[in-house]
Amino acid sequence: MTTTRFAPSPTGYIHVGNLRTALFNYLIARKSGGQFILRLDDTDPERSKQEYADGIMEDLEWLGLTWDRVEKQSNRLERYEQAAQELRDMGRFYECFETPTELDLKRKKQLNMGKPPVYDRSALALSDDEKAKLREDRGQGHWRFKLDHERINWTDGILGDISIDAASVSDPVLIRGDGQFLYTLASVCDDVDFGITHVVRGSDHVTNTGTQIQIIEALGGTVPSFAHHSLLTGPQGEALSKRLGTLALRDLREQGVEPAALLSLMARLGSSQPVELMTSLDEITEGFDLSTFGAAPTKFDVQDLFPLTARHLSSLPYEAVAETVTGLGVPTDQGEAFWNVAKENITVLKDLAGWWELCSTGADPVIDDEDKEFVAEALALLPEGPFDDDTWGAWTKEVKAATGRKGRGLFMPLRKALTGMSHGPDMSALLPLLQVIRAKG
Ligand code: GLU
Repeated sequence: MTTTRFAPSPTGYIHVGNLRTALFNYLIARKSGGQFILRLDDTDPERSKQEYADGIMEDLEWLGLTWDRVEKQSNRLERYEQAAQELRDMGRFYECFETPTELDLKRKKQLNMGKPPVYDRSALALSDDEKAKLREDRGQGHWRFKLDHERINWTDGILGDISIDAASVSDPVLIRGDGQFLYTLASVCDDVDFGITHVVRGSDHVTNTGTQIQIIEALGGTVPSFAHHSLLTGPQGEALSKRLGTLALRDLREQGVEPAALLSLMARLGSSQPVELMTSLDEITEGFDLSTFGAAPTKFDVQDLFPLTARHLSSLPYEAVAETVTGLGVPTDQGEAFWNVAKENITVLKDLAGWWELCSTGADPVIDDEDKEFVAEALALLPEGPFDDDTWGAWTKEVKAATGRKGRGLFMPLRKALTGMSHGPDMSALLPLLQVIRAKG
C-alpha cells in the first residue's frame, strides 16, 4: 500500500513552502487509496512546542488535508536507541568529541586548501583509553554514522537520476553530545517502521536523502521512492526563505485567502499543467501528476491567491455563506439578494462587511460640482421605498426624461451619489438593498 508522510517540526507554524510538501504527499496517498501520516518531528525538546503542533493540525484541517494517523517522534526514543545500538554493533557508528569550534576550524582549513569541508574522521583513530579520557574531560561525545564511500544512486520522482559521491559528504551526526537523537536517525527509523513508500520533500533534502538511503540499508529497511520538489522563490526569483515567516498559512487565512485558492495554486505551480481553480480536493487529486513538476525554482506570488479566492467566492451558492452573511446583520429575507449583489464585488469574504455597511448605513455621497443640480433633481424624483428590482429602471427613465441626460452622464453621478463609489454592483440589484440613502440629506 502507498504510504506517505508529512513531517513538520513543531518549532513554528507551517507556511506555503511546507504546504507544497504536505499537499504532494497527501495527494499521492489519496490518489492511490493509500495512507497519509502526519509525523511530528519533535526530537528537539527545547524548540518543539505543543502550541505549534496544534497550530499545524489546525492549518491542515482548515485545508481539508486530513491524515490517517499521527505519530510523534518524542514517543519513539527507545526505538531510536535500539537502532543506534544496531549501528554500533555493526561498526557503522562512532563517537566523536570535537567541539563546534574545532570542527569549524577544520572546515576553514579545508576550504583554504581548496578541499571540500568534509569531516576527516579523525575520531575513528581514537583508542578506547583516549575516548575514556575525552569523555572525562568533555562529557559524552556525539555519534556519527560511517558512510560507505561509494556512489549513492536513486531515480528521483522529480529530479530524475541522481548520483551522490558519499565521500563528498560528512558522516552525519545522529546523536548529539547531550544524547538528543537527531532528525536523520529518527526519520529513517520512522520511514522504515511505518512502511513509508514515497517521500516527497524540498530539494534542500537531496544530500540528506543520500545519507538516509545508506542508513536505511544498514538497518535492513526498504528504501522508499524519493522525490524532491524545487524550492519556492518570490515573484522576481528572489529567495523566499526569509519571507516565509510572513507566509504562514494562518496569516493567509487571516487575510481571507480561501483553501480552494491555496490548494489549486499549490497543486499546479511549478508543473507543466496550468493553474486553474479547482473547488474540491477530489478534483485536485484526480488531476495531480508528480511527473509534471520541474526541477527549476518555482516562483510564488502571494497576490495570485486573491483573484483565485475571488473567483471561488463568486461561484459559491448562498447556503455556503448564509451564516457569514446573516452574521453581519443582514436580515434573513434579504440575505440571498445581498449575496448575489455583493459576491461579484469582493476579493475576500470579509469585504462583505463593507458592502453591508453601505446598504445599512449609507455612504458619504460623492457629487461633482457640475452634477450638483442634476443629482438634486434626480433625487427629488426618487420614489419612497421600499425599492424593488424595477425601481432603478423606472427612476432613471424618469430622470432621463426630466433632465435630458443619458448613458454614463446619467448613471455615473447617481451611482456616486448613492454609493460614494464609481464602481460596484449592478445598481438595479443594489438599490432594493439600500436602506439608507444619505445623498437625500
Ligand atoms: N522535519 C523535517 C523537515 O521539516 C522533515 C523532512 C523530511 O521530510 O524528511 O525538514
